[in-house]
Formats: sequence, structure tokens, C-alpha cells
Amino acid sequence: MATPSILILPGDGIGPEVMAEVRKIIDWLGAKRGLSFEVSEELVGGAAYDAHGTPLTDATMAKAQEVDAVLLGAVGGPKYDDLDFSVKPERGLLRLRKEMDLFANLRPAQCFDALADFSSLKKEVVAGLDIMIVRELTSGVYFGEPRGIFTEGNERVGINTQRYTESEIARVSRSAFELARKRGNKVCSMEKANVMESGVLWREVVQKLRDEEYPDVELSHMYADAGAMQLTRWPKQFDVIVTDNLFGDLLSDLAAMLTGSLGMLPSASLGAPMANGRPKALYEPVHGSAPDIAGQGKANPIACILSFAMALRYSFDLGEEAERVEKAVEKVLADGVRTADLMGPEGGTPVSTTEMGDAIVAALDASV
Ligand code: NAD
Repeated sequence: MATPSILILPGDGIGPEVMAEVRKIIDWLGAKRGLSFEVSEELVGGAAYDAHGTPLTDATMAKAQEVDAVLLGAVGGPKYDDLDFSVKPERGLLRLRKEMDLFANLRPAQCFDALADFSSLKKEVVAGLDIMIVRELTSGVYFGEPRGIFTEGNERVGINTQRYTESEIARVSRSAFELARKRGNKVCSMEKANVMESGVLWREVVQKLRDEEYPDVELSHMYADAGAMQLTRWPKQFDVIVTDNLFGDLLSDLAAMLTGSLGMLPSASLGAPMANGRPKALYEPVHGSAPDIAGQGKANPIACILSFAMALRYSFDLGEEAERVEKAVEKVLADGVRTADLMGPEGGTPVSTTEMGDAIVAALDASV
């Protein structure tokens, strides 16, 4: 099989800083595990705008379509706030998601024991938490037509349309069932079938798919508002949650915050399988370009490193190596190594971005 290919798009602000630490892990896998990747790097976001007048060139877009996985740092920053909407840094990211047709957004919410005190919930509620939210990313109310602000009689009306086809529901549900089989074998589907027809269809399609193709996976249904309550009451009852674009937007942020810092949260966005069987895939930390700390060596690289671990698992079928990286992160945190965002009220001396990366590489060294 051809050497797996990765396109790195560091982007803006802390993006390049955290991505440099991912490079160390990629190099380590090559040197110590005999796993080589064909790595290329291009500009995206404000950096691409500065160089080319566009947040994503056609050439970079074409490359993203060809590689096995895209790794993105972050885009944006105050320098670009006044740009026209069509060339804003975020447009580069949106174009990638749209043209790669990345319909399944995977947001794990995992609580490392060493950080359980960071959650706003009680420690026993979150310690050991490991859930995955699968959000539909390319349809639903953010895209449905008609949309707009119209005039009706003597007042204006704002309209958005929630719209889902059976095939759109089925493909994201399939991603959730496949994931569940590799995890706790449980899926909870969330919608509002009590008040929305699109929710009724959603529920029917998910149930039918499960009955016909995934009878071994346990499926439950929950109204999304009840789901939000259950997520804060006892999140450990869930394994994989599958939901639409709007509810997924809210529920994934809610679930993420159960675990503490923004600097810890990875994500993956997956599309249809390519000719080689691998899904189209974009991996990125949940956080943005953090202009307030950019260039100061303060950024936590763990979210980006854990995003790369997701790439190992979901694009390259290297689940064992993904786990090795995750265990190395866990070990470093258990040893009390902390970037500034992870400092508790008890204080201490934070490490820099590069020191955190080095500590994770040292933990990897100790794992073989
Ligand atoms: P942000 O995520 O960049 O930062 C929010 C806060 O979290 C800041 O105080 C920041 O210092 C902190 N933070 C974020 N990541 C961190 C890390 N790895 N380590 C330590 N601390 C971290 O969100 P924002 O401030 O709302 O947005 C800043 C810029 O990023 C804006 O231009 C926004 O549009 C863009 N943005 C991009 C993405 C993306 O690229 N996917 C996502 C969100 C925001």
C-alpha cells in the first residue's frame, strides 16, 4: 500500500505553534515505530490571504482532496477582522469542509483523571468520562432553503429551514454505528421528534438502519433537550451520540466543557470513503487561533496532538498507536506537567508549548 499522506495546514496564531508539536509525534512514529507518512504543508486562513489574497488557494484545495488526511491548526485573528466576508480566514476552513463533503463531525469528550477537577461538574460525574458526539455537518437548518430575512405585511420575518433527506440521515448514522462498534457498542440518537417532522423522519431512518444493518448495536432515542439535561446529570450513561447539525453544535460544546480546557479538545470531520477505502478526513483542534497568547509559547498543544491521534485511528487504522499517543498524554498530565491553561488554583510553574510536546515524546519513548 502507498505511504499514507498527510497535508498539514498550520494556519494562524497558535496554529503553527501547536502543529510543530504534532510534527514531533509524526517524526517519533517514523523513527521509533517504523511508520512513515508523506507529509506536505500549505497555507490556510489569514496566512494564505497574506501570501495569495485568498484564504485557500485552488491548488491547496486540490491537494486536500488527494491526501489521506488533512491536519489543520487554527485560522483567524484580529488582523483579518475587517476583511470582506468572502476572503475571511474562516472561509478557507468552510471551503475545505464543504468541498470535501465532510458530513460527520466527531467530537470526543474525554476526561483525563488528572484534570477531573477542571470540570464545572463534580469529579465523580466526569472522572473517566469517554463519550463521542457525532454531529451532522453539511445539512440541516444551517443550510436549508428558504432562508433569509423577508418582509411580510408591515414587518420583517427571519426564516431558516430545517431539512434532512433520508440519505443524509442514514450516512451520518452509519458513521455513528460504525464508531460504536469500535467503542462501547451503544448509540443514542437525539432529535425533537415530539415537535419537528424532520425529527420524526430522523428517528425512523436511524431505527431502520440499526434494525437492518447494525442489530448488534444498542440504540436509544432521546429528545435533544432531555439529552442536554442528561449530559450534565450523568454523562457516563452515553457512548456515541448522533444528532443533527444544530443540536450537535450545542450538545458538542456542552459535552466538551464537561472536561475542562479548550486546549484539550480534538475533533475529526469525516466524509465518504475514497477509492482506497479511507474516508475523506480533516482533523483539527476545537480551539481557535488564540490571538491573546499567540507567539508567547503558552499554547497547549494537546488538542492538536489528540486530533492527530484521531487521524491515526480513523484514517490510518492505527488504533494501537493512537492509544499510545493518548496514554502518553495521560501520563504527562498525571505527572503534573501543565501548560498555563491547565494550572489550577494551587499554582505551580507552567511549561511552554514545546516543553509539553517534548514531555509527550519522552512519555512515548518510555512506552516502547
Ligand atoms: P479561541 O479558541 O482562539 O480562544 C479562546 C480562549 O481560549 C482564549 O483565551 C485562548 O487563549 C484560549 N485557548 C484556546 N486554545 C488554547 C490552547 N491550545 N492553549 C491554551 N489556551 C487556549 O477563540 P476566540 O478567541 O473566540 O477566537 C480567536 C480567533 O480564532 C478568531 O479569529 C476566531 O474566528 C478564530 N477561531 C477559529 C477556529 C478554527 O480555526 N477552527 C475556531 C474558533 C475560533
